[in-house]
Amino acid sequence: MINTAGIHHVTSIASDPQRNVDFYTDVLGLRLVKKTVNFDDTHTYHLYYGDEVGTPGTVLTFFPFENGRQGRVGRGQTSATAFVVPEGSIEYWTDRLESHDLEVDAPRVRFDETVVPFRDHDGQPLELVAGTTDVDPWDDGPVPAENAIRGFHGVTLESLDPDQTGRVLETLGYEPVERDGERTRYRASGDRAAVVDVRERADTPQGRQGVGTVHHVAFRVPDEETQLEWRERLTDSGLRVTPQKDRQYFKSIYFREPGGVLFEIATDGPGFARDESEAELGTDLKLPPWLESDRERLEERLPEVGSPGR
Ligand code: ZN
Repeated sequence: MINTAGIHHVTSIASDPQRNVDFYTDVLGLRLVKKTVNFDDTHTYHLYYGDEVGTPGTVLTFFPFENGRQGRVGRGQTSATAFVVPEGSIEYWTDRLESHDLEVDAPRVRFDETVVPFRDHDGQPLELVAGTTDVDPWDDGPVPAENAIRGFHGVTLESLDPDQTGRVLETLGYEPVERDGERTRYRASGDRAAVVDVRERADTPQGRQGVGTVHHVAFRVPDEETQLEWRERLTDSGLRVTPQKDRQYFKSIYFREPGGVLFEIATDGPGFARDESEAELGTDLKLPPWLESDRERLEERLPEVGSPGR
């Protein structure tokens, strides 16, 4: 049986890396828990933001391309990434986001929850959902702990084939729980990041990957052994799954689901404290052992990125 607890991380595409750091740390109050490079494209940063230690289910990551082409959010893509904020903090957040000149929509109710859709400076669609999770707020960030983000709520997938996407989600252990018009809600077993909404919107144009869009969504698996078992099951169900890859902070396998979205299955461990102390997470550029000999050349080619709160 495959039974994911929910989302492990979401990876998106950004433009300027410094603006990315400034927004996700200073404005959203997440912690930069790792500064490394994209292991498959080592001239690009891979920036990880999350709770204090980067708990699975709290981690949003970015590949920033300084002069990247703007993408278009549409069908075949993840069309929104949602965070949980405490009940009663919606007004705080609306004011905070508007004071940073962001495009913020009026709060709305969806499946009995208050939702505030907004976009970051690259046009990345994000949402805040009032609710609770098992994530402790980071009390050392710029957002007071009583209002701080509590990890992910989930994602919305604008599937090219909602039925097939639903089937894959059910293979991963998600259950359809609610439906409202074009939106079907699936839920996993975990206490955070457990929601995936699949939207059916035949009139929406197909998305185009680029700045301001999501690259992939990763789901949680407890360990490597289980991951290899799941790989076999997913392959048996007809999906083309990559071999296991070492992402240093977790191990990963990938496949594209029939609705167009790239899915990843990522192990909970070893986590971000693998190569720097918890107190120093995100401070220095970290490279995996196989890129360390190339450090000087890589550092020369990467744009300068200052630490949060510099
Ligand atoms: Zn990933």
